[in-house]
Amino acid sequence: MFILKSQQQIEKAINRAKAIRPRVSVKALGRYSVEGHAATYTVTCERRNGQKVVDCSCPAGQHGTPCYHSAAAVGLHICLAEQTSH
Ligand SMILES: [Zn+2]
Repeated sequence: MFILKSQQQIEKAINRAKAIRPRVSVKALGRYSVEGHAATYTVTCERRNGQKVVDCSCPAGQHGTPCYHSAAAVGLHICLAEQTSH
């Protein structure tokens, strides 16, 4: 789990996501399933006390490292959140 403060913070993860292009499926708004190389992980994006909290079920995500699963899900989440807020 990590707190998303800026796009730069997850830039490396975004670049990895662009290279790897994991398949992301939407389970619900803020809840995604990301298919990586070895396994499929669940990523959640939610607001807690005004902070954007991102959580991925992969080992890196469990240690607070922004992984490419999170980056892929965050990218989609931002698109969906913008669409639903209109
Ligand atoms: Zn992950």
